[in-house]
Amino acid sequence: MRKKIVAGNWKMNKNLQEGMALAAELNDILKAEKPNCDVVICTPFIHLAKVSDMIDHSVIGLGAENCADKKSGAYTGEVSAEMVRSTGAEYVILGHSERREYYHETPEILREKVLLALEQGLKVIFCIGESLAEREANKQNAVVKAELEGSVFNLSADDFKKIVIAYEPIWAIGTGKTATSDQAEEIHAYIRSVIAEKYGKEVAEETSILYGGSCKASNAPELFAKPDIDGGLIGGASLKAADFKGIIDAWK
Ligand code: PEP
Repeated sequence: MRKKIVAGNWKMNKNLQEGMALAAELNDILKAEKPNCDVVICTPFIHLAKVSDMIDHSVIGLGAENCADKKSGAYTGEVSAEMVRSTGAEYVILGHSERREYYHETPEILREKVLLALEQGLKVIFCIGESLAEREANKQNAVVKAELEGSVFNLSADDFKKIVIAYEPIWAIGTGKTATSDQAEEIHAYIRSVIAEKYGKEVAEETSILYGGSCKASNAPELFAKPDIDGGLIGGASLKAADFKGIIDAWK
């Protein structure tokens, strides 16, 4: 049975004190009432070490939102996969559309990042998804397939099993516009079929594919009820413990 996951992506929000308070609140809530899914919070780099010490990792997984495409050395301002791992984090988000768009991360750069993250034993939440123009031109399937081929289909089947896919239509991220559950299910099923073509049905069936894009407590139950939607990657609604818990509860 593949894992059901609700992962938060804090993005560039919360100073250290605010982030610690949110992590502590969530930790208390989830320890008191065990979730029916894996829960992960992906925080800015500066929060990782402190949050890692505070949370019960058997209840909440911890992830970074990015890592460097180089192993170590003279890369001022960068944070390596090894550094992320050394904080106690278990996950890293790679390929987020904001990184692709604003920081010009190409498929080749992302391929390097994925390899370095896996080398450190991190699980990768790899984001794919089309823009509004691509959706309107009915190119969404071609886009997500190319994103997989460009950065993760070079992996062995054993390594691919350490990847969680997050389908995030760019037009739905932070816009309040959610893909309908039918739209999301259709492309999730397509993504699973592409993985099956490449790695076989067994690997495809074991791959968790999360939906991301204005997911909230009110629409999560309908999205998560779909057979190929294994949870969510949550931006805005992961910044308040009650909102995030509302989404986690969609698995109840
Ligand atoms: C995201 O950016 O990963 C995301 C899903 O954001 P939001 O939930 O705010 O749309």
